[in-house]
Amino acid sequence: MKNGMFCGKISSDDAKWISEKGFDFAVGSGDEDFITLCHRYHLKPWACLGTFHPPSKDEKYLCVSITGERKEWFYSGCPNNPDVIDYAIERYGKQAEKDVYGIFCDGIRFASPASGLEAFFTCFCNHCEKRAIELGLDFQRMKNHVSTLYQHCKNGLPFVDRCISKSPSLTLLYFLSLPGVCDWLWFRKKIISDFIEKLSHIVRSKNKKFGGYFFSPCLSTLVGQDYSMVGNFIDVCSPMLYRNTPDKGSIAPLNTELEVMTEWAKKEKSPDWAVQFTGLSSEIKKKSDFLKKGICIEDIAEETFFARKLVDKKVKLIPILWWKDKSIRKTIKKVMDAGACGIQIFWYTEETKKFIHTSLTEFL
Ligand SMILES: [Zn+2]
Repeated sequence: MKNGMFCGKISSDDAKWISEKGFDFAVGSGDEDFITLCHRYHLKPWACLGTFHPPSKDEKYLCVSITGERKEWFYSGCPNNPDVIDYAIERYGKQAEKDVYGIFCDGIRFASPASGLEAFFTCFCNHCEKRAIELGLDFQRMKNHVSTLYQHCKNGLPFVDRCISKSPSLTLLYFLSLPGVCDWLWFRKKIISDFIEKLSHIVRSKNKKFGGYFFSPCLSTLVGQDYSMVGNFIDVCSPMLYRNTPDKGSIAPLNTELEVMTEWAKKEKSPDWAVQFTGLSSEIKKKSDFLKKGICIEDIAEETFFARKLVDKKVKLIPILWWKDKSIRKTIKKVMDAGACGIQIFWYTEETKKFIHTSLTEFL
């Protein structure tokens, strides 16, 4: 298994074309038509499932922000809501019964910055409170310190101030001054790690592979994803290394997530702090550069390298890349040189098809 295409609904011609271009797996809805087409053209069919979709639109399934509001993020509810959890287990179990090669979990995390300031500062619902206390955390301290950090951001200041972000040791000191924030980040990580383990057993017990889409290593801590724990539970790790997505507020790409965080910091003109905090080397002078210029290829290679170092060697590292990248060949080469064993393209459209035809063929 090497190179994959992320697909929406595809026709027989599409599947044939994807196969002929050298892709050996496809990721899609996992419905019967998709699976049949993949098998017909020798593509390994993977289903992609969102994880924390609520069973209905009822507000009670949604996360609660630090200000007490119910907040939806990425079509998701609270990762600690028992009904949300049961619904995910049911869907993953049913999908694993089908003739797929494997299942990619998506949205297996807490809310990211691009879902909004209030959605990001979640979850403080009753289920999360109960779980936090069971885990031995001081929930009130967690709320107090997260509220302090939220107010700081709400007042237009950076998540980590400029004078601190350039020093990793000062950044550590800053977070240690807010131990409730450390607890909150650990809590998110613990809940997500445990659920990855649970879904892994469900999927693998049906002899299916289990893969996951994860935020870039430099953002993963913020959403509760921990690359270092997935080694025993997943077969394929796919960091979402989208470096130049042009759509403001797009969820998951490195450039748009960071752009949103710098927009929160209205009182700080420079985006330096966000670049420093994430350890990137991209030349981002203005906030708008995140969308105009994007993140440089070298940073994407570095993120691949970090992922490779963090994830157990037995896991295949296959980053997923944003298709509309004028330097896609170079991006792929650098990502492969940094330790990836293949790539995926997000996603398949008629435009992507033309683009790949002219820009990518010799690489696949
Ligand atoms: Zn909750």
